[in-house]
Amino acid sequence: MSADTRIIDGKAFAEGLRTRIAAVAADFEAKAGRKAGLAVVLVGEDPASQVYVRNKGKQTVAAGMESFEHKLPADASEADLLAVVEQLNADPAVDGILVQLPLPAHMNEQKVIATINPDKDVDGFHVVNVGRLATGLPGFVPCTPLGCVMLLKDRLGSLSGLDAVVIGRSNIVGKPMAQLLIAESCTVTVAHSRTKDLADVVRRADIVVAAVGRPEMVKGDWIKPGATVIDVGINRVPRTDQGAEEGKTRLVGDVDFASAAEVAGAITPVPGGVGPMTIAVLLRNTIVAAHRSAGLALDESAL
Ligand code: NAP
Repeated sequence: MSADTRIIDGKAFAEGLRTRIAAVAADFEAKAGRKAGLAVVLVGEDPASQVYVRNKGKQTVAAGMESFEHKLPADASEADLLAVVEQLNADPAVDGILVQLPLPAHMNEQKVIATINPDKDVDGFHVVNVGRLATGLPGFVPCTPLGCVMLLKDRLGSLSGLDAVVIGRSNIVGKPMAQLLIAESCTVTVAHSRTKDLADVVRRADIVVAAVGRPEMVKGDWIKPGATVIDVGINRVPRTDQGAEEGKTRLVGDVDFASAAEVAGAITPVPGGVGPMTIAVLLRNTIVAAHRSAGLALDESAL
């Protein structure tokens, strides 16, 4: 296989997914007499969060859905935020609610997430949806890990019987990723900061999902030849190439792409791999929520 065909193009896959969603959203509007709606709540001025929220809004509108943005100042009280969430829970035009994380330190994230109606929790972070995923019931699955599974199934077809290692055990990526891979009948190992001989653990895997937050930690000689590598990490590091201006940075993943791409059967790049999937899956979850709330049939597996 040539080096190019090994690269899993998440950007192109996400574009295709958004095109499918736009067709479903138009059909929803025709049947329901209204657009599907996604509300995003942002507290404070964090520049990265502002960029995410802006992109979510743009892509929601581009997919033919309604975008509602609620901005609260950094010193807003938790009660103010909970009141906004309650108002969105009660609003029939809002199918999905996303509260942009992280929240300011004086707010309890778990309490805020617990206030979102689980049927509008398109981020899949509410304990009811966590429980539904763990028990195999229909609910909402966190966007980034669901995007990873979509890329894996697109590349490999059935994942049944494959050995998978997930590096990282966060609630938003590692744990739901492991649950999804169990549901796909993989044999799953979850590694974390206390794992002994991580390189040896990774070497056994047919599928490696790295969600650590440590630049280029996973080396090529950790990868079993032919394995599929999904790099969730987004790390900004200083540019060291000749001629780079001082202070310039670049994005890298948790996997040392150059060495891993030599060995892997397929690998996601950073940027352009998992990253673009997250918002596309958020839109997918929103159009699914809209159909469920309106009582309209949808083949969710086709999205
Ligand atoms: P997180 O909450 O910080 O979790 C990191 C996990 O990595 C923890 O479980 C930690 O283990 C483990 N870990 C840390 N150092 C390790 C080491 N040396 N060896 C093995 N495991 C180690 O991070 P996260 O929210 O899951 O995000 C992970 C990465 O994905 C970040 O780079 C983030 O920016 C990126 N991300 C990307 C997207 C996207 O593409 N859209 C979305 C979400 C996150 P312990 O539990 O033992 O501490």
